Amino acid sequence: MENDKKAAARAALTKYIEENNCRKTTERFALLDTIYDIEGLFTMEELAERMAVQNFHVSRATLYNSLNLFVKLCLVVRHRFQAETKYEACCDTSNHCYQTCTVCGKVVELDVPEVAKALESVRLKRFRKEYYSVYFYGVCQTCQTRSKRKKNNLKGTKKSNIDKNE
Ligand SMILES: [Zn+2]
Repeated sequence: MENDKKAAARAALTKYIEENNCRKTTERFALLDTIYDIEGLFTMEELAERMAVQNFHVSRATLYNSLNLFVKLCLVVRHRFQAETKYEACCDTSNHCYQTCTVCGKVVELDVPEVAKALESVRLKRFRKEYYSVYFYGVCQTCQTRSKRKKNNLKGTKKSNIDKNE
C-alpha cells in the first residue's frame, strides 16, 4: 500500500496514544504497518502469521486489542462473515463488491458494472455518501459440488441399507 496512507494511519495512532496517555508500543505500530502492507482482506490468524515471519510474536490478546483499537480509530474495517471475521485496512475509500461463501467463508472481489451503475445513482437524504462495500452471500462452486457429492453418498448408503433389510 502507498506510503502516505501508512503514514496517515501512523499519525492517527500516534495522536490517539498521546491524547490518551497510552503506552507507545512498537508492537502496535508494527501491526499497523503490516496491516497496511496487506492487499485486501485478512483474518487475525493471517496477521499473526505475517507478524511471526517478521519475528514479532504477538499474543492473541494484543492482536485482538490492537485490532479493536484500529477499528475504533477507523483505520481498519471489520467484516463479520458467517464463517469467520476478516479485517481490511480502511484508508481505501474506494468502492468494493464481494462474493462470500457462507459455507467455507471464501471471499472473492468482483467487478460488477451493474452494481456500480445502480449504486452510483442512489441519492441519500441528509447524507453525503463516499463509498460502499457490497457483499453477495451464497455458496461457492466447490462447496456446491461437495454438498452434491455428500447427498449422493447418503443416497447410496440408504439404498444399501434397504437392500440389506429386504
Ligand atoms: Zn465455499
